[in-house]
Amino acid sequence: MYSTCISCYRPLGTNQIIDAFPIGRRLAFDPAKGRLWVICPRCTRWNLVPIEERWEAVEACERHFRRAPRQIATDNIGLVALPEGLDLIRIGAPARPEFAAWRYGRVFARRHRRLVVAAGLSVAGGTALLLPTLAPQLLVILPAVYLTVTQSRRYKDRLVARLPASDGVVLTVQRKHVGSAHIETGSRNGGWMLHVTHAQGEQHFFGEEAIRPLGHLLAFVNGTGGNRGEVLDAVRAIEEVGNPVAYLETIATRHEGSTKLEDISPVDRLALEMATQEEVERRAMEDDLAGLEQEWREAEEIAAIADNLLLPASVTSWVRSHRKG
Ligand SMILES: [Zn+2]
Repeated sequence: MYSTCISCYRPLGTNQIIDAFPIGRRLAFDPAKGRLWVICPRCTRWNLVPIEERWEAVEACERHFRRAPRQIATDNIGLVALPEGLDLIRIGAPARPEFAAWRYGRVFARRHRRLVVAAGLSVAGGTALLLPTLAPQLLVILPAVYLTVTQSRRYKDRLVARLPASDGVVLTVQRKHVGSAHIETGSRNGGWMLHVTHAQGEQHFFGEEAIRPLGHLLAFVNGTGGNRGEVLDAVRAIEEVGNPVAYLETIATRHEGSTKLEDISPVDRLALEMATQEEVERRAMEDDLAGLEQEWREAEEIAAIADNLLLPASVTSWVRSHRKG
């Protein structure tokens, strides 16, 4: 096992995550081809790990990668930064279905549970106090009380999001504005747009620039989350279309004309929120991923040669002596 970079001879560092391979702070792996590289923190050279040290380590990398809560991916390459200080770069098509179901399952199920527990507590509390005196009426009164609270002014003025518009102005969106937020098709350039009413007036967001504000609003509209079945359906819906942006367009065109966010089906709304989140993250990491992808293509060429040509010892020693000269 080596611990210095073959290009700059600096230490590659260590990690405490991959037991089978505790070298490096940034590991790149290709589960399909069984390749593993340590990326030099100093010169960014991809150091190919010898074949006999790879298999267990690649398996461990894949396991940690799939379990990581925040995964960023293009069609060819994925990146996670583990909190312990190890970056994993995965070569190959993203493992979205299991990953997304896991990631969003936790987020949405937590929201869902909170709602169920809250409702359960208020009903149980109310029942314990009032049931002895007015049992049947209770079922009528409780929803009425709830409605009164939700209609109250303070509730309606609650801040939902602050959305930066293209001209630098920050728009304040309150609860009372969410109901009228809608997506429209057949607008400028034949694309889709998001229409938002806010404290200062109204705003249209077109196509790409609508993704971030749409995500903010959906996080609020989807406030009750979803159960595991709904989350899986939502993940599948994005999978069928292929990628998050295409999915946004599909939903927009499916609801031809004008559709309020609150009128979109719960599964479609969950899927839309996931799609917007993934797209926002992908954009933030785009440069990093593009650089990594380029580095990988170069490293892959070398790896292919190293793995496929098992040169006789006489040739390698000849190469070595000439390199020194
Ligand atoms: Zn180096």
